[in-house]
Amino acid sequence: MSTTAFYSNKPENYNTYDGNDLGFTYTPECTTFKVWAPSAEQVLLKLYTTGSYYEEGAQVLGIKQMLYDASTGVWTTTVDGDLNKTYYTYVIKTAKGTHETQDVYSKAVGVNSNRSEVVDLAETNPEGWENDAHILVDKPNDAIVWEIHIRDFSSSDTSGVSKQNRGKFLAFTERGTVIPFTNFPTCVDYLKQLGITHIQINPAFDFGSVNEITGVDYNWGYDPVNYNVPEGSYATDPYHGEVRIREFKEMIKSLHSEGIGVIMDVVYNHVYSAVDSPFEKTVPGYYFRMHDGKFLNSSGCGNVTASDKTMYRKFMIDSLRYWTEEYHIDGFRFDLMACHDIETMNLIREELDKIDTRLLMYGEPWTANDAENGISGEDCSNKSNAKKLSTRIGMFNDDMRHGIKGGSDDDSKGFIQGSTHSAYNVIAGMMGASSVTFGNWANEPSQCITYASAHDNLTLWDKILKSNWCTDYDTTDKLYITQNKLASVLILASLGIPFWMAGEEFARTKYGDHNSYKSPDSINSINWTRTIRYKELVDYYRGLIKIRKAFSPLRDNTTKAVNDGYIVYNGQSISLTMKNDVENEWEMISVIINNSEQSCTPQIKSQYELPKGWYVVANGEKASDEAICKFDPDKPLPPRTALIIVDADSYDHIHGTDFFKDTSNNIDN
Ligand code: CA
Repeated sequence: MSTTAFYSNKPENYNTYDGNDLGFTYTPECTTFKVWAPSAEQVLLKLYTTGSYYEEGAQVLGIKQMLYDASTGVWTTTVDGDLNKTYYTYVIKTAKGTHETQDVYSKAVGVNSNRSEVVDLAETNPEGWENDAHILVDKPNDAIVWEIHIRDFSSSDTSGVSKQNRGKFLAFTERGTVIPFTNFPTCVDYLKQLGITHIQINPAFDFGSVNEITGVDYNWGYDPVNYNVPEGSYATDPYHGEVRIREFKEMIKSLHSEGIGVIMDVVYNHVYSAVDSPFEKTVPGYYFRMHDGKFLNSSGCGNVTASDKTMYRKFMIDSLRYWTEEYHIDGFRFDLMACHDIETMNLIREELDKIDTRLLMYGEPWTANDAENGISGEDCSNKSNAKKLSTRIGMFNDDMRHGIKGGSDDDSKGFIQGSTHSAYNVIAGMMGASSVTFGNWANEPSQCITYASAHDNLTLWDKILKSNWCTDYDTTDKLYITQNKLASVLILASLGIPFWMAGEEFARTKYGDHNSYKSPDSINSINWTRTIRYKELVDYYRGLIKIRKAFSPLRDNTTKAVNDGYIVYNGQSISLTMKNDVENEWEMISVIINNSEQSCTPQIKSQYELPKGWYVVANGEKASDEAICKFDPDKPLPPRTALIIVDADSYDHIHGTDFFKDTSNNIDN
């Protein structure tokens, strides 16, 4: 069946609305409600004292008929008085029946999502919020992204976070946290030392899979209910909608005060339950892609939203603008971005650019089932259409991921475990998927997210162990550490935007669980004691981050660095040699990786003149922005080892030293 046959939603038959006041508009004197419901015969506004019927003091405060404007499809009413902290729903009667629903444009809700709440947002701002500023990088490639689930960050007692804040937004506001009975920092203190620039938070908008009253279930949260509301189970009080808003803002402010930006994982491609969602109850059959009266399912989660429809596209844009402006979010990661059409994604870029061109945008360039996407393959935001998208909309480079470690969940081997056939995927990835010679699905390295692990699939550590037939998840065997180090070099010393799942740098394990989306905390929690056990690995990542920050071409967002770079692959080792024009930085760098079981002679080439001498800044043992020793070109590179070397002259010039002439540094690589 042709996918274009699913274009059944078009043309749209409804008048649309382009105002920016859907939802409630609050003042202390009165509140105006607006809901777009063009197929409704009647809409009532219901006001409540509480966010659920089972709370103490629950009662209906009033019911009001809303008035319809056929030219826009919008129903409106204004209620006098101060409605701050009043809960509300709409009762919407259409040909498909009568449904009571929360507001599509909810900004706050009661416990477990079913009633919206009027909130005076100014009252939710933490102290000093007016001075809180976005953390933005000059170019996307300056970002170094650490992916974390709100609950995993602190749910374990090894986090040292106070008991009431464990697993909550507020854990990100604690300082001086250590692994109990040690001096090893955890949480935000740990992140400051590590040196990443941004965290990417797994879904933190309101989702449906965790009961906010009991909070005992675990879920990643890829099941949105109210897109513009923080999730209640991460708040210390899920009942009063204003609390989660304030605590979310406290989290952002705290991270921003340490110079750490926050990228939000947004899942606009599907909802928890289409029939129960405010979208379907408000305008039945409109917001989702349908075929023969059935929900299409390119998300693999039972439904797919219609970004190509005027009012859903508008919703996405409004929602992203809201998170950026109200919550100071610094970037967005789009789940299953290929469910969205190219036009929408480029429009979102344009709209975010009006706020700041440095806001980050990237996503997964695939669907879960292309045949049920409901828009043509030419129109969807997948990797083969990357060149039709803005150069500042990035995509996860799954070719590189696969090249680095092999299949995500099987026991196959990739480059780091010694495979030779994956070298070409790795080389293309090192060049930010932007090299004409080696492969360029991307326009520029700014479109390439370079990674080996994310929340989906086995952790990198578990994958390394599986491909080596090891089931001791706490092993410190050098072989596995070494393979993990090779991956870290490929992620941090390549072009593109480096990204990894929290804990990749301390051998995070989920004990072989390849899909832990609803597994218990015992599988998912960060076990901070691993930062001690695998300190060598943490230090290695930290050193590579310093190297990346010290050498601008690695962070180039254009193809200049690609064209200036020179790759040699001799069947045993890869070297990438790069030139630098930035003053007071190393003039040249070479990243050399031997993935084989034999030592080999490094081969370094460049279209530019090579320096007379080099210093090693990273070898098999450690990495840092300080020279470790002189590089000896005649000395074989040991098996499974990466070297990063920098030209000696510029190093000495920057550091005001003469490391090269000091014979005590003549130790080998
Ligand atoms: Ca929820």
